[in-house]
Formats: sequence, structure tokens, C-alpha cells
Amino acid sequence: MQDNIAVRSESEQLVHTESLQRRVVELQDFADRIEADAAKAIALAEELAVSKKITDEALRQVKSSEWRTKAVLDAVVDGILSISADATIESVNASSIRMLGASESELLGSNFENFVTDFEGQSVKSVLLGSESGEFENTDSVTLFCNARPVGRAPFPAELILAKLTIAGQTKFTCVLRDITERKNAEFAIQKLALYDQLTGLANRHEFQQNLDTAINMASRHDVTAVLMLLDLDKFKEINDTFGHPVGDELLVSVARILEASVRKSDTVARIGGDEFAIILNNIVDPLRVRQVAERIVDSVSQPMVVDGSLISTGISIGISIFPRDAKDAKELIRLCDKALYEAKRRGRGNYQYYDEVMDSSARAEQVLENDLRLALVRDELELYFQPQLATLGGHTVGAEALVRWHHPTRGLLLPGDFVPLAEKNGLISEIGKQVLQKGCQAVRAWRDTGIEALTVAVNVSPCQFLNDRFMDSISSALEDSGINPRWLEIEITENALIEDPEQVRDKLEKIRSLGVSVAIDDFGTGYASLAYLRNFPVQKLKIDRTFVKRITTSIADRAIAEAIVNLGRSLNIDTVAEGVETLQQADVIRQIHCSAMQGYYFSHPLPQEKFEQWLRKQ
Ligand code: C2E
Ligand code: MG
Ligand code: MG
Repeated sequence: MQDNIAVRSESEQLVHTESLQRRVVELQDFADRIEADAAKAIALAEELAVSKKITDEALRQVKSSEWRTKAVLDAVVDGILSISADATIESVNASSIRMLGASESELLGSNFENFVTDFEGQSVKSVLLGSESGEFENTDSVTLFCNARPVGRAPFPAELILAKLTIAGQTKFTCVLRDITERKNAEFAIQKLALYDQLTGLANRHEFQQNLDTAINMASRHDVTAVLMLLDLDKFKEINDTFGHPVGDELLVSVARILEASVRKSDTVARIGGDEFAIILNNIVDPLRVRQVAERIVDSVSQPMVVDGSLISTGISIGISIFPRDAKDAKELIRLCDKALYEAKRRGRGNYQYYDEVMDSSARAEQVLENDLRLALVRDELELYFQPQLATLGGHTVGAEALVRWHHPTRGLLLPGDFVPLAEKNGLISEIGKQVLQKGCQAVRAWRDTGIEALTVAVNVSPCQFLNDRFMDSISSALEDSGINPRWLEIEITENALIEDPEQVRDKLEKIRSLGVSVAIDDFGTGYASLAYLRNFPVQKLKIDRTFVKRITTSIADRAIAEAIVNLGRSLNIDTVAEGVETLQQADVIRQIHCSAMQGYYFSHPLPQEKFEQWLRKQ
């Protein structure tokens, strides 16, 4: 066998070696490939490890950002929800849960429409659908107002901001739900402040104007009548001064309630000034209703009311104008109504008055008179007449009352009653008073110069003139210009001038007194002042009103009053003068009750200066 092997041919041996060599090369090659693959695998594994780390980190970051986003969303006060195009709620933040009063699981999957209503007249779906049809065009979001309806709680006003998003080809909406209750309340408060009177809660002047315009428009469109009433409380200022502002305020509130109760809900009741009210009655078909409303108001307000523990009796005057009968627009309707109100007050307050054309003509006449009066002051058309005052003991003349007259260029001689009230209203009274003081003092000077024995001149002063700041100046300059002794000048004021502001009145009376000028109370016994002022105010004379003198011989009561005034004067060391003595019998009684002086037609009518001087000489 050995031999067999040994005997393998040399050629066979060679082939075998070559084959082995090839095998080795193959193996070597295989080993190289394996080695390369292993390196690749290692690199791949390393790469995988890095990627996993990155992925883990990314995932962690996503989680954290998601968590943070949720935390932020939950911290927002507004509700934030995402909803699908068919209004299904897909996610909510904590505020949505709180605001809508439902749990997260109850909210998710339910329809958003269950929680909002009055969506500016549309359904949520239609708005969302509108997004297809262009509601969202050119904008990323729309803002709408609605009422949110939380579960188990009252609805609240809300603002809704809807933003449209497209995610992976699907339309979604992010919805911000904001509770605007506070904003609405603030808006309401501001509106209330702008349109309503704070004290009474009635419409204010602004709102009244608007409502009147509306009422007039409606009335002309439907061919019906609208009625305007302007109302003014009687004696409100006195009540305020006597009882104090809190009582005054409460009275206004009580009156406001009476007015509201006297009209329909659809009518307007407004407070347009301190104690001025207005009522607009819409759509009046039966004219009788206007009268009924006015009567009811006058009646109710004139009932004594207990306000803050005080019994207050007041009254109300009402002017009434009617659209379209009286005027064609609001401004004119108010103007005419105001005239009617003025007329109601003039006729004694506590009543109502319809506007009629006569009023307007009398107002125009007043306007003409006012212009004439301004001219009169420039053209020196005022003249003083003098009426003597005689001592009851001895019958000699102790003084004269100066009474103003106006020589009107066309109407002739006018008495104070024809123009003084108008002058008091338009402020001309101060200028008239100034001229009267000048003329009165000049008369005293003339008498002194012509050797007539000295007489006191009593000059009448209106309350508004008396309270005017420049009143003292006009007295001083009249005294200075004439150079007379101030003791010959006397100021006559009525009691009503004394009730305004006691401190100011006292101060002024003292100033007058310190000039040496004396003060008389005119028409004593007819005013509203309390007698206590006689003790506190420096007053030298009381003029017993002629209404008492008139019946002094026939009425026991009037005689008693006159006598009481004389006694009161005597005990306070104040002189008394009886006014309006027309008969000898009256003069006799005046003498019997020991009144110090008298004045009246029985002795002399008021006379022009020259005639008066002749009268004096004759005496
Ligand atoms: P008074 O101050 O009470 O003046 C008395 C008024 O009674 C005067 O009216 C006078 O003419 C009138 N009279 C006098 N004696 C009698 C009489 O025996 N019987 C009757 N029935 N009447 C008599 P007059 O001049 O028309 O003045 C009216 C009022 O006008 C005055 O009332 C006074 O309050 C006011 N007045 C007059 N002159 C002025 C003035 O210069 N300034 C102001 N502010 N008021 C004036
Ligand atoms: Mg007088
Ligand atoms: Mg008088």
C-alpha cells in the first residue's frame, strides 16, 4: 500500500497540491469577508445605539413639551378646546372643564353645540361650515359672541375665538372660550352711567333726547300722537334748604317712583335737571289718557309724604305739548312744553297746563318788552313817583316811598307790576335798581337844596337784587354821587329775600346798617320767613301789608294781626308803617293801635317828583 502511495504518480501529487493551495486561498478570502462583515455589523450596531439615544432624547423632549403645553393650556384662564369640523370636542384644557361644568370625559366626544347658544343667530355648525364657504377667508380666526351654558349653572356671556387649522389634510378648529361677564357688567355700568340718572335710576337728559326723537319718528311713521310732559317740583329749593339735601334726594326718588307708576312701561320717564322731570307718552290714541296721567301725577305728588322721618308736602307743575299738533320737531316740542310748564307754575303751581298758541304770543310779547326795557335803561325812561308816609301822631310827613314808573314810548306809563317781574327773571332788575337808588338819593339832595325839610326816601329792592354781589356798590355810589346823609335812605325788602341764606343776609344787612342806611321789611305778614329773623337781623321798620289794612275796620282777625305786628315791633324797638290806607276809618284804627306811620291813597297817591314837592309845600 505504502508502495501504492509511493507509487502515486508525481503528476497526481502536483494536482493535489494545487488544489490545496486553492482551498487555502478560498478560505483566506472567506475569512477576510467575514472580518469585513463583522466590522460592518459593529459599525451598524454603533450607529443603531446612537440613533436610539437620539430617538429616546427626542421622545423625552416631545413628552416634556407636551406636558409643558398642557400645563400652559391648563394655566390659561380662558377655555381652550379643539373641535372637529362637525363640532365634536377633541381636547379641552382645565379652564374649559371648569367653565362648562363637565368632566373631561364628559366633554370629550360630545358636541360643542350642547354648551353654547345664541351664537349671533347662527349654529356653531353653520359657522364651522361657513369656514368652507369663506367665513374664514383672509383671516386665521373669527370672533363671535354667544351664551355659554355650563352644566348645572346659569348661562354666562362669552366670547368665542375660532381658529381654523388643517392637519394632515383634515380641518380642525381651536376654540378659545372667554367668560366676558365682568366686561359686560362694566359695559352695562358705563351705559347706565351715560344714559341713566344715578340718583333715581330714571333716564337722564341724554337718553330722554334720544327717546323723544325716536317717539317722534315712530309717531310720524305710524300717524299717531306722541305727548311730552315737562314736570317741575314746587318749592323744592325750600325743602332742600329746610330739611337738608339727603331728604331732598329721597323726595326726588319718591317722586320718580310715582311718575314711573303713573305711566306704561313703554313710556319714558326721565330726570332732566335738579327737580325737573320729563315724560314721553308714546302712541297716544285716546287724548283722555293724557289728562288722566297728568291728574294722577298732580294728585299723588301733592299728597304729604314721609321722607326720612319728616312730613313733606310738595306739589308738581306739569307742562304738556303734543306732537304733531303743537310742533313738528323735538326742539320745538320742548320749547312749547316749557312755556306750558311756565304757565302752569304762574297759575299757582300744583297743576298741569297744555300748550296753546296764546302762550307763545305772550312769550313773544315778553321778548319785545324785554328788548324795550333794555332800551329804556339807556334812554332813561324810568321815573320815580313818591308816596308820602305820615306820622300817626301829628300827621306830618316823615318820609316817602319811591315807586318806579316806566314811560314806555308806545304803551304809555307802566307800573312796576308790568315790568319788574320780567326784569327779575332776565336779570335787568339790578340795573333798574341801580338807577332807582341813584334817582332816590338825587331826590333827597334836591329837597335839601331847595330847602324842603329832610325826608327819608324808601327804595324798594327785589330779593335777587339784594342778593347780588354788586348791590352794596350801587348803594355806596348812589350815596356818594348825591352826597346825602345815609340816614335819609331806607331800603325796603320783602321777607322772602331773607330766607335764602341767613348768614349771607345777616352779613349784608349789617353792611347796610354800618353805612347808616336803614332797612324796612315790606309787605310784612305775607311772606314765609320765620319771625325769629327779627331778633337776629338789624331791621328798623315793619310795613304792615295792605291786605290787613284793607279789612282792618271790618275783620276782627285782620285788626288783631295788625295790632300784634305793632306790639311785636314795639317790644323789639322796631317802627311800624301801615300800607294802603284808603279811608279815614282805616286811619283812625291805625292811630288807635299806635302804629307809628301810615301811607296810602287816603293821603296821597304816588306822585311825580315835582307834584310831590307841591304836595309837601301845601301840607
Ligand atoms: P309796595 O312796595 O308794597 O308798594 C306799594 C304799592 O301799593 C304801590 O304800588 C302803591 O302804588 C300801592 N299803593 C299805595 N297806597 C295804596 C292804597 O291806598 N291802596 C292801594 N290799593 N294801593 C296802594 P306800585 O307802585 O304799583 O308798586 C307795586 C310794587 O312794585 C311795590 O309794592 C313794590 O314791591 C314794587 N316796586 C315798586 N317800585 C319798585 C322799584 O323801584 N324796585 C323794585 N324792585 N320794586 C318796586
Ligand atoms: Mg314798598
Ligand atoms: Mg308793600
